[in-house]
Amino acid sequence: MNQWYPSVIHDYSYELNKDFQFAAAHYVPHESAGVCQRVHGHTYYVNVTVAGDDLDHAGFLIDFKQLKNWVHDRFDHQLLNEDPLFNNEDSNRFPTTEVMARTIWEIIETNLQKLDHQPTCVQVIVRETPTSYVIYRPKKEVNK
Ligand SMILES: [Zn+2]
Repeated sequence: MNQWYPSVIHDYSYELNKDFQFAAAHYVPHESAGVCQRVHGHTYYVNVTVAGDDLDHAGFLIDFKQLKNWVHDRFDHQLLNEDPLFNNEDSNRFPTTEVMARTIWEIIETNLQKLDHQPTCVQVIVRETPTSYVIYRPKKEVNK
């Protein structure tokens, strides 16, 4: 699939991008969501950008497959609302495209921070339909 991606500005020497997709059902539990309040499914297309200055012992910033598996294995063919990362009572945890993008960033960043060479996730793009996508970029830490 040819897709144009907005780029993210950073000072790291290496940048890696991984595309993957998964199928999942969800609903948005709020009256403003209209028909999206009903359970329905999407094929989610995700693009993840990881950056860093150092590589691991295998010469990787991060294994492409590992990056995919952290997210795909958790969400593929699931009802997202049932995942404990989402919450039907808290709008900051409804499985909207925006929250999906941030949540995917949280999953990836948590895993990356366990690695000695400290790669970091600088951007997550989640495409929910052919005409709709969201970008999540973490705020830069002031004291690093
Ligand atoms: Zn939807």
